[in-house]
Amino acid sequence: MDLFEYQARDLFDKHGVPVLRGIVATTAEEARKATEDLGGGTVVVKAQVKTGGRGKAGGVKLAHSPEEAEEAAKAILGMDIKGHTVHKVMVAEGAKIAEEYYFSVLLDRAERRYLAMCSVEGGMEIEQLAVERPEALAKVPVDPAVGIDEAKAREIVGQANFADELKDDVVAVILKLWDVYTGEDATLVEVNPLVKTEDGQIIALDGKVSLDDNARFRHPEHEELVDKSATDPLEIKAQEADLNYVKLDGEVGVIGNGAGLVMSTLDVVAYAGEKYGVGPANFLDIGGGASAEVMAAGLDVILDDEQVKSVFVNVFGGITACDAVANGIVKALEMLGDQAKKPLVVRLDGNNVEEGRAILAKANHPLVTMEDTMDGAAAKAAELAAK
Ligand code: GDP
Ligand code: MN
Repeated sequence: MDLFEYQARDLFDKHGVPVLRGIVATTAEEARKATEDLGGGTVVVKAQVKTGGRGKAGGVKLAHSPEEAEEAAKAILGMDIKGHTVHKVMVAEGAKIAEEYYFSVLLDRAERRYLAMCSVEGGMEIEQLAVERPEALAKVPVDPAVGIDEAKAREIVGQANFADELKDDVVAVILKLWDVYTGEDATLVEVNPLVKTEDGQIIALDGKVSLDDNARFRHPEHEELVDKSATDPLEIKAQEADLNYVKLDGEVGVIGNGAGLVMSTLDVVAYAGEKYGVGPANFLDIGGGASAEVMAAGLDVILDDEQVKSVFVNVFGGITACDAVANGIVKALEMLGDQAKKPLVVRLDGNNVEEGRAILAKANHPLVTMEDTMDGAAAKAAELAAK
């Protein structure tokens, strides 16, 4: 999950990284008020969008009074920056900048370690610096077993060619940024610019943070960082039910057990659907030990999708055998009652397949059709969706 700058600012603050005060505003009036609350002096009004280059696009404006801040916010709110509409600004205390630097640390998957990058030439787009003057950008590998300790921070600062009198201060800030990286389970922490102010302080003026979603379970407090307005409501509902669900734009709902099986089901449905102009509506993997409750939760999410006209339940019985899954389907349909209105095509195979089919045959639910093969089931589901 990528964070907004103001959220990154808050995490920096929490870990002791020096930042300036900032207040989020969603209207020009609020921006004026925020400026007053910050003392009424110089502020920077900054577009809050999850993309870079806001400065260049006119999304970062200096203002010297509450009135000017209101004007700036009026200009920035609603602006489109690289396809992102600005709904919020951050009004931040203005800094008197003497120099701009760059620092980032990220996960280097290919090398199975972290990579720190640092330069005394910050501010500009770092991609450009990396291409035009690669020698000005220090790239320092970080061993995950050691992390950025004092020695590593000194190595980074040394390679970036900081002036001697700045080294201690920058090292201290880098160590705190490393606390953010590990403490919050981030995959990216980037500060551009990291600045020296006219009175010699080192401050993080901009922050870009990506959090590792696989570590979400360790951070219940990150829940409130999720930008619900930008997430599909069905995906939010699925997430709340702990389901691996991705919304697609077709008409055939898909449920399966195992990510690989579901991926190939999407292919088969897309192929079978070509004839009718329909396709898969979603990815949903209910995992290995699918209980009736999980099946019901999955069906509930899929049936909620107005675009869905039929559902293909594709299960390969393994540790959870087909009879258990069949019972799950029957119970799920009972639990959903009148909510279940769309036809279900079920294909069972694998462990205890005969028992599973017998259970579904006995239940004889009017919405359920059984098919023996994956291709046959996909064709049937596509045909039903096209009706
Ligand atoms: P980005 O363009 O999306 O990376 O947005 P930044 O937050 O990095 O802001 C862009 C530029 O605006 C910075 O490189 C600074 O030069 C300038 N800027 C940001 N905050 C301040 C501030 O408090 N005072 C001054 N004078 N300039 C600022
Ligand atoms: Mn920046």
